[in-house]
This record gives sequence, C-alpha cells and structure tokens, in this order.
Amino acid sequence: MTVQENYTSIQNEISAATKKGGFSLQPHVIAVTKYVTIGRANEAYNAGIKHFGENRLEGFVAKKEALPDDCIFHFIGSLQTRKVKEVINEVDYFHALDRLKLAKEINKRAQHKIKCFIQVNVSGEESKHGIKLDEVNDFINTLQDYENIEIVGLMTMAPYTDDEDYIKALFKALKEKQIEIHELNLKHAPCSELSMGMSNDFQLAAEVGATFVRIGTKLVGKEE
Ligand SMILES: *Cc1c(COP(=O)(O)O)cnc(C)c1O
Repeated sequence: MTVQENYTSIQNEISAATKKGGFSLQPHVIAVTKYVTIGRANEAYNAGIKHFGENRLEGFVAKKEALPDDCIFHFIGSLQTRKVKEVINEVDYFHALDRLKLAKEINKRAQHKIKCFIQVNVSGEESKHGIKLDEVNDFINTLQDYENIEIVGLMTMAPYTDDEDYIKALFKALKEKQIEIHELNLKHAPCSELSMGMSNDFQLAAEVGATFVRIGTKLVGKEE
C-alpha cells in the first residue's frame, strides 16, 4: 500500500470516529517514521503529511535533515537526560516529559520555550513510562517557574490489550484531566492538546477527543 492510500483510509476512519464522539475538529496525524527509511518519510510528505514523529535521537536528526522545512517535528519517545542538549532545540513538540530531572535539564538547555506534553501513565502499570494521573496537577504546579517549558498538553500510550472498552476508559480519563487543567487557565500550562492513539487504537482516541494521533505501522509501515 502507498502512504497516500493508507492516509486516505486513516482520515476516513478518523472522520467517522470524531463524528461518532461528537467532536467537530479532527486530530492532527503525526506520521511516526521510526521504523522506515527517509524515502518512505518523503512519500508521507508528498501525501500531504506535515507532522513527523521519531523516538530516538539519531532517527530524529536524520529525518529532520532530510525532510522539507515546512515539516513539524515531534519527539515522541522517552529521552535520556544526558541527550537533552543535543535535541531539545530542534524539536517543535516534545511528547514525553515524565520526570522533574528531565524538566530541569530541558529548562536549562532550551534556548526558547519548548512545547511539551506531559506523559501520563493512565493505567498505572509499573512497566510504563509516565507520571500517574493523580500526580498530574502537582507535577504541573512544580513546573510553573520553568520559563522554557510550556505545557501544551497531555500524552499517553495505551497498554497492550485488545479490550477496547478498557482503552477507551483510559483515554476518556485523560481527556477529562486535560480539560480540567486547561480550565485552570495556567499561564505556563494552556494544556489544550491531547496526544494519544497509535496504529491499533487511533479510532478510539479520535472518538474521545485526541488532538494528535501518532501513527507508524498503519500509515508508513514497518520495515525490518
Ligand atoms: C512507535 C510509537 C508510535 C507509533 O506506533 P505504531 O503502533 O507503529 O503506530 C506512537 N507513539 C509512540 C510514543 C511510539 O513510540
């Protein structure tokens, strides 16, 4: 399948899901290109995609160098503190702020305000990255004096399960938290965005009000 074909069917599914959920705006589609070549990423660009996501420093730098200037780059993976200085000023959005030590390093190395998502572990599984749902407010309050960090939204990764009701409940809980924070009108945390939904669950995320979905396998494929 070409990226264009995949993109068209994904957009149709998203459109149906947002309508079902009663939302008028559709989430932006981030093409996650971590499994594919620069050629395939370019194919996504030619299909009309402007948002690109990578989760490793090397892949991020390579795709950013290769793709045209009007692309928007998302760093979606957990980032080691020692690698912050190499990448943070190159990202348009950072999706995985999940600890204070990382926030400190970003604040120190950033040359301008960095748009960050707080990664939340909604299910509370021990193996997952992210802060717990009931710790989000405190974490955000702690960040208020970090002048180079803007909390644009919340992000999560659903656990591996085919229990759609369970995933939907987790996504809904995060949507409620995102709205709650947004309505606090915090200057450092507008929190108007919600990054959730991947190849297996983007429809559920769109249905409950994601503003960014991050799709790799189903959009650009996965090369071994
Ligand atoms: C790899 C990855 C994705 C995309 O995963 P697919 O299942 O291939 O769509 C989305 N978000 C994050 C954080 C990822 O690491």
